[in-house]
Amino acid sequence: MDNRDMFRALGIKEEVYTLCEEALADLRDRFAEIDSIAEYNQLKVVKAFQDAHVSEAHLYGTTGYGYDDIGRDTLEQVYANVFGTEDALVRSQITSGTHALGIALAGNTRPGDEILCPAGGPYDTLEEIIGIRPSTGSLAEYGITYRQVDLLPDGGFDYDGIRAAINERTHLVEIQRSKGYASRDTFSPERIGELIAFVKSIKPDVICMVDNCYGEFTRREEPSLYGADMVVGSLIKNPGGGLAPLGGYIAGTKDCVERAAVRLTTPGLGKEVGASLDNNKLFYQGLFMSPVITANAEKTAIFAAKVYERLGFQCHPSADTTRYDIIQAITLGSEEAMVAFCQGIQAAAPIDSFVTPYPDDMPGYDSKVIMAAGAFVQGSSIELSADGPIRAPYNVYFQGGLTWYHGKLGIMMSVQKMLEKGLITI
Ligand SMILES: *Cc1c(COP(=O)(O)O)cnc(C)c1O
Repeated sequence: MDNRDMFRALGIKEEVYTLCEEALADLRDRFAEIDSIAEYNQLKVVKAFQDAHVSEAHLYGTTGYGYDDIGRDTLEQVYANVFGTEDALVRSQITSGTHALGIALAGNTRPGDEILCPAGGPYDTLEEIIGIRPSTGSLAEYGITYRQVDLLPDGGFDYDGIRAAINERTHLVEIQRSKGYASRDTFSPERIGELIAFVKSIKPDVICMVDNCYGEFTRREEPSLYGADMVVGSLIKNPGGGLAPLGGYIAGTKDCVERAAVRLTTPGLGKEVGASLDNNKLFYQGLFMSPVITANAEKTAIFAAKVYERLGFQCHPSADTTRYDIIQAITLGSEEAMVAFCQGIQAAAPIDSFVTPYPDDMPGYDSKVIMAAGAFVQGSSIELSADGPIRAPYNVYFQGGLTWYHGKLGIMMSVQKMLEKGLITI
C-alpha cells in the first residue's frame, strides 16, 4: 500500500485526494516560513528552561495546600522568561481560558473602574464576566463599567473614538489578539503594540491586557514584548502543546500577576498555595513541544484555506496572508455545510471518530454552536477541532492538529463529507 491507498482505506475518494495534493504543492514556501518561526520559538523555550535551571525535581508535584511547590514556581519563571515578563501565574486551578481572563479582569479592577475594549468587543464568554450580557456575579454587579470602541469599517483602529472613550475611570484596556468568532483580522503583536502605545500616550497608568488565546508561538514575539502589562491564555490551546490536561496562564508585571493570583486563591494566600498534583511534568513538556505543535496546527490551517479557496469558499485569513494565530475561518454559507464540515473533522479523529456532531446550545454563547473534536483532552482546541456559532455568515472556525499529517487527513475528510452531501462539486 502507498499513501494514496491508505487515504482510500480511510474513506477519501480519488478526486478529493487529487484536489488536496495539488493544493499542497503550492504551499512549500509558506511551510518553510512556519518552520523557521517554530525553530526560533523552540530555541526561545529551551533557553527559558535553561535560564530557570529546570531540573528533574521540578517535574514532580505537591498535594494539599501546595506550599513550596518548586515545580510550579519554577514553571512560572519559565513562562515569565518565554513571555519576557516579570512574573507569571500558571495553574491547573485555572479551569479554562475564560477563567484566566476572568481572574485577570476581576483581580485588576475595583468598583468605580471602567474597562475599555478599544478594538471591538471581547470574546463571547467575556460578555458575561464583564456584564455586557447580564449575569450573576458579573463585574457590572460590582460597579465596574464597560465601554467599547469598534474598529473602523476598513478594520483600522478608531483612534479618535478611543481618545474620546478614555476617561478618569478608565483603568484597564482589553485587547483580543485572535479574531475569535468575529470576522475581522487577527492582530499582529506589532499592531497591538501600536494600540497600546496610543492608549498609554493618553493615560500612562492604564493596564493593558491582551487575550492571547491561540496566538502563542505563531510569531517570534508575543504581545508582552510590545507593551502589554498582561497576556492571558489557555493551556489546552497552544502553550500546553497538547499535553497539558487543563490549566491557564497569566504572564505580566509582578503587580498584575499578584492581583490576579489573590483573586484565583484569596487575599493573603496569592501564589503561595495551589498544589500542582501530577501536572508539572505535562505542563513543562507541553510548553517544550508547543512551538512545533503550533506549527503543525498552522500548516493544517493554511492547507485548509488553500483547499477551500480552490473550492470557491472565502477563507479568513486567505491561504497567502501572514498568520498571527492558528484559527482558520471558512465562510461556508449554510448550516448544512457547517454540519458536514464538522462531521468530517470528527470522522478523522483518533477518539470518538464514530460520533456525529450536531448544533446545540452551549453555556456562555448566545446562539447554537456546533463543535467537532475527537480529542485526548476534552475541548482541547490545539487538537484538531472545528466549531462555530450557527449564525450568518455561517463561518466555521477550524483549529489545531497535533501532527500535520493528521490535520491534513481532517481537512481531506471534511471535503469528502461536503462532497457526499452534494454541497460541493470537484
Ligand atoms: C478560546 C478563547 C477564549 C476562551 O477560552 P476557553 O478556554 O474556551 O474558555 C478566549 N478568547 C479567545 C480569543 C479564545 O480563542
